[in-house]
Amino acid sequence: MKLSALSGVFSLLLLYAALGCAQQQAVSGPSYLLMSQDPAFLEEISKISSTVYSVGRTRLIKLSIPFSQIPTEIAAKLREVSPEEVYNAPAAQGPEKTADPAVLAITAKVAGARLMGYADSITMTGKRSAAQLDISAASGNRLAMNYIAGTFKELGYEPEWQCYKSRKADKECNIVARRKAGQSGAKAILVIGHMDSTGYENAGADDNASGAAGVLEMARILAGYKSDHDLIFVTANGEENGIAGGYACARKLKESGELSRVSWAINMDMISWNKDGVLEIETNKEFLAHADWVGAQARLYTKLEPHIATPAWGSDHVPFLEAGIPTYLSIEHWESHNPCYHKACDKMAALSWDYAADIVRLNLAVIAGKARLTPLASKP
Ligand SMILES: [Zn+2]
Repeated sequence: MKLSALSGVFSLLLLYAALGCAQQQAVSGPSYLLMSQDPAFLEEISKISSTVYSVGRTRLIKLSIPFSQIPTEIAAKLREVSPEEVYNAPAAQGPEKTADPAVLAITAKVAGARLMGYADSITMTGKRSAAQLDISAASGNRLAMNYIAGTFKELGYEPEWQCYKSRKADKECNIVARRKAGQSGAKAILVIGHMDSTGYENAGADDNASGAAGVLEMARILAGYKSDHDLIFVTANGEENGIAGGYACARKLKESGELSRVSWAINMDMISWNKDGVLEIETNKEFLAHADWVGAQARLYTKLEPHIATPAWGSDHVPFLEAGIPTYLSIEHWESHNPCYHKACDKMAALSWDYAADIVRLNLAVIAGKARLTPLASKP
């Protein structure tokens, strides 16, 4: 007994020594941020690196081979980062201690069941990868665009088909709906969530029918308010193909002059898988103060446990951050993230629409904190 216990301790010591060595090797050279957490990519990268930081969605690695020897498609998903860029911690309570009844009146309108209905309709369109538009004009991607544009119309909007790429059988487009403030030069707030998926049949429920449903639910509720900011609702396409729709949207808004009026942007990508109530609010370091304020709103208006994370990567908030606009991603806690991420099993079952509804409440509270919203006389 004793001997085996001793030898157990000894092998533990050996293991520690080996790990220590491995770590010493690993700490030389720069740290790289993983800009994809696709399971196949993670498998590849694990063969040539060791993880030196993994908190929430932020994973840093050190390479065990020179960067120049890495295949280009893998290298494209790595970004060298300095330690100062990296932050991940629970948000603090803000100075406001009591919720504003006017904001509560808005957030009370969010309904988990309606969110689930929108997400279900988007999920059941079939295969939603933008590449499906190469195959058929009746693909799931096209059906999802049609469904979203139709829903915006029902809510009283005139949706724009913001098309940016011709596919073989169809066009790849973002669907954009606007609520104009009515005065020229008004500032604007942009809300975005991608509607495409990695392309499994009737899947991509959490990634990201949930976020696109969040955009629709916010548009539905805000249709009942006059706003002193323009509100721009974007369901982006092609996110899974290099954030194509998000970049196209930023480019087109820049060309029209609208982008310079966007004072805030909010991204929802994967908002319906909940294990521990934690919400990640991800941005870049220069907007940490903005993210702190968002975290404080989460503590005031929701049951969420907000965590702030930097740097930003891999979703539709990135093009707007690169344009210098304060932007954050609201996303489920990555430390206990959806095991069906980018898999055929990303279905509607096992998702939490109460949790998703709280994320939508937070994003509405943020808009209510930045824009003056006045209820319109209720329609008969
Ligand atoms: Zn996504």
